[in-house]
Amino acid sequence: MKPDQTLNYSRMKAHFLALVQIDSVSKKEREVALFLKKDFEAIGASVSFDQAGEAVGGEIGNLIARFPGNDAERPTLLLSAHMDTVVPGEGIKPVCEGDVIRSDGTTILGGDDKSGIAIIIEVLRTLKEKSLPHGDIEIVFTICEEFGLVGAKHLDMTQLKAKSGIVLDCDHADFLFTQSPASDRMEFTVHGLEAHAGVCPEAGISAIQIAAHAISRMSLGRIDFETTANIGVIEGGAAVNIVPKIVFVRAESRSHNEAKLEKQTAHMRRCFSEAAEQFCIEKNGKKIKGRVEEKVWRDYNRMNLSSDVPIVQAVLKAAKTCGYNVKTNATGGGCDANIFNAHKISVPNLGTGMYQIHTVNEWLDFKETSQTADVVLEVVTSFGSETN
Ligand SMILES: [Zn+2]
Repeated sequence: MKPDQTLNYSRMKAHFLALVQIDSVSKKEREVALFLKKDFEAIGASVSFDQAGEAVGGEIGNLIARFPGNDAERPTLLLSAHMDTVVPGEGIKPVCEGDVIRSDGTTILGGDDKSGIAIIIEVLRTLKEKSLPHGDIEIVFTICEEFGLVGAKHLDMTQLKAKSGIVLDCDHADFLFTQSPASDRMEFTVHGLEAHAGVCPEAGISAIQIAAHAISRMSLGRIDFETTANIGVIEGGAAVNIVPKIVFVRAESRSHNEAKLEKQTAHMRRCFSEAAEQFCIEKNGKKIKGRVEEKVWRDYNRMNLSSDVPIVQAVLKAAKTCGYNVKTNATGGGCDANIFNAHKISVPNLGTGMYQIHTVNEWLDFKETSQTADVVLEVVTSFGSETN
């Protein structure tokens, strides 16, 4: 007979509510990290923090916990979520309405990603209390996921033994995300020439006009079913009566297809360089043109896990065993899973029931959170066993 694997959902809910009331906006994760350290130590897991906090200018590093297994034959498994939240994320007051948990409307809820953390801790507590079979488990709770995945980017992957795992950082509990796009980041500094806007505008070159010219010729938004692009930030100009000499623009492109990503990024760069060429004046017999400085870099690589990968199979099978219908899916968002997969640790991203994230309307469907907890526990107790 299969052992009892029922989780303590009310304990998980109480833990979640406690977690969201500990402020942890990016770079300020120390308090929640120390709270979680106690949770881990109470169940016999060892905890350490890496140097990522120093590298990114935050309060504390990534939390790495090790929960020893009771079956040495099984492979090590990684479970991961992130500790930081977006803003406004201070003074969160959760409101429960049955299975729906929301904020009081003045802040985010922080279900992104404390729902993932609550699930992982409850799974470990249940393993321990019910002496369920499992291999070694490595837990990574990252910092600064919302700040460009920089916690995961600074994680020393050589510390991890696991070759498979699960990230819990997505919306729908019926979806296991196995594909997400690669992303390029771009920063453009557009240089014009300052002049009095009323007295001698012809002696100036408007950096704002160059940027506007470039952006108006740019394909942005949804480019096709697997490619997107966005100008996210634009700042510039000094006063209404000065022809502006400088404008900063920050942009991104994403695609599930590497060739399309390259093409889109090249297109955006070209729009800026061509626009700068078009704005030109003559001064003392010399031609002066607008100019663009650019910084372009790969933010993260794509995640593209095949359905045949053992951990993907294990999650789908576990969901079925628990009576749920979980399907693989693709997302347009990037998360820590992109970083783990780039380091050859196969890690799909399972939804936790968090919705309208990054807004003050964020809410959590606790029924879905419980579903994912069931699935994760089933994966942990079955992954690498002979019957799996
Ligand atoms: Zn998240």
